[in-house]
Amino acid sequence: MLGTRLALLAPLPALALVVVDEEHDPSFKQQEGLRYSARDTAVYRARLARCPVVLGTATPSLETWHNWRSGRYQRLELSERAVPGARLPAIRVVDMRSQGVDAGFTAALVSAIGRRRELGEQSLVFINRRGYAPVLACEACGWTAACTRCTARMVLHSVDRCMRCHHCGAQAAVPRACPTCGNVDLKPLGRGTQRIEEALQARFPGARIVRIDRDSARRRGELARTLEGLRRGEGDILVGTQLLAKGHDFPNLTLVGVLNADTALVSTDYRAAERLFAVLAQVAGRAGRRARPGEVLVQTRYPDHPLFAALARHDFASFAESQLEERRSAGFPPFVFEAALRAEATKLDTAMRFLRTAAALADVPEGVHVYDPVPNILTRRAGLERAQLVIQSRSRPALQAYLAAISARLFEHAPREVRWHLDVDPIEFD
Ligand SMILES: [Zn+2]
Ligand SMILES: [Zn+2]
Repeated sequence: MLGTRLALLAPLPALALVVVDEEHDPSFKQQEGLRYSARDTAVYRARLARCPVVLGTATPSLETWHNWRSGRYQRLELSERAVPGARLPAIRVVDMRSQGVDAGFTAALVSAIGRRRELGEQSLVFINRRGYAPVLACEACGWTAACTRCTARMVLHSVDRCMRCHHCGAQAAVPRACPTCGNVDLKPLGRGTQRIEEALQARFPGARIVRIDRDSARRRGELARTLEGLRRGEGDILVGTQLLAKGHDFPNLTLVGVLNADTALVSTDYRAAERLFAVLAQVAGRAGRRARPGEVLVQTRYPDHPLFAALARHDFASFAESQLEERRSAGFPPFVFEAALRAEATKLDTAMRFLRTAAALADVPEGVHVYDPVPNILTRRAGLERAQLVIQSRSRPALQAYLAAISARLFEHAPREVRWHLDVDPIEFD
């Protein structure tokens, strides 16, 4: 039986093996309704069925890596590549500070794409942001187009000339002038896939450029058709988001350019580096899948970051070890267990008050730490104010006992105007 998260609940009386492919993928965690990790549930289901479970990945999650290091899991290594004779791509870091950047591209990347054009090979330009520009701003007064329902900026989309909020889906017309000062010269700041596509068109006239992101793949079946065309060699330069990183095999693709990988390096989310490594390793794997060697250029302002050194050496182990050491000293998972109690209400104060009440509903046992409630980074989403409190413990049973004690009483104490949920092993703190 082949399935997504929910397949785990299917009745299979003679279950003898469970395989979780790409186990590090955050989408195994269901983030809506009943929140659960399908990977961890798979491990549990296999235990109930007394059968083996295989977690497959080239870049294990640090939880899984840690479970192997501490002897709970067994590691099986595939030492040969799937395509015989295929070599790992050469990964190079391009320093954006010394190179100078024009329309998002360093000279090194432009000339590498040009060489591929001459050879009749395909290039992939990877940028993890869709739309035209993430910000529309007035330089005269500093106004930026914001979503009225979220603590977020509207993203400018050029194909259908509108602004869209990527958090709540709200849509608005592009203003003719700054609503604050009347300046008609509004400027798009930053770059998304559509703007990169435009820059490539200007730079390589005549090249067949194919953009692949959630906007271009909106219609049913369209993504599959585009990918099939690319495999047949239709298209010279691909511009794509993470949608392209996974599992697709393009025999004629020999160059991958990563435009700007830096946002994850300065993120407040301690999982950002782990995810960046997995995405870059995956996107790098698109280059040179066959006998032709692939090349990967990663543009960054932090060329000395240890993540890139490990990536260039294809050395996940040393990256994982250094990340785990950071997590251990900072007291983050997998060295502690976490849960987040989250609340939403039309007023932030209502949500915060509920969380403070919730924390006091049961005595906090020894070994469990309840942090003060804080507003989310994206405080308002779709018109609701959001706050959360984090509960940590080095002991899973102690954490579970406390959660059981408060959750029973939360149902009685939650005011009607508050929506709340408890997320065990949260992986996102937006
Ligand atoms: Zn203005
Ligand atoms: Zn919004």
